[in-house]
Amino acid sequence: MSHVEKYLYGDPEEISTITRIGCELLPPPEKLTTDQQELLASKLENLLQLFHFYLDFPQNYPVHLRYPFIRNFWNEKHVSLSFGESHIEFCDFEEENCPFPGYCKTCQEIAEQIKYDEEIEKRNRGNNLSDEEDLPF
Ligand SMILES: [Zn+2]
Repeated sequence: MSHVEKYLYGDPEEISTITRIGCELLPPPEKLTTDQQELLASKLENLLQLFHFYLDFPQNYPVHLRYPFIRNFWNEKHVSLSFGESHIEFCDFEEENCPFPGYCKTCQEIAEQIKYDEEIEKRNRGNNLSDEEDLPF
């Protein structure tokens, strides 16, 4: 983070501090039923939005499976914004390390885009000399 951002938004704090809900209030997923995890996940996700945190899950990702991610998020330090949206990404755009296999489209699209870009570049490199006459300037 740059100094300017820090000046504008303040220091990162733990989510439990920001929301005033201690991590100890969130039981480990294995102690909860699917229904309980689903209920908690949707409540916590709504709560986080009040604090301007938007967790970027794939749209069709089952709600109860989100609970462990949200629980981990509670220990993380983030800068709390007083306006706007702070989007939290879990997928770091590498298909093989994606936390949402079978659901995530982001890394899939990026992998396809990279492949596509490489194709274009290869083609351009091959055509470079003959293309020169077609340039509009
Ligand atoms: Zn992904």
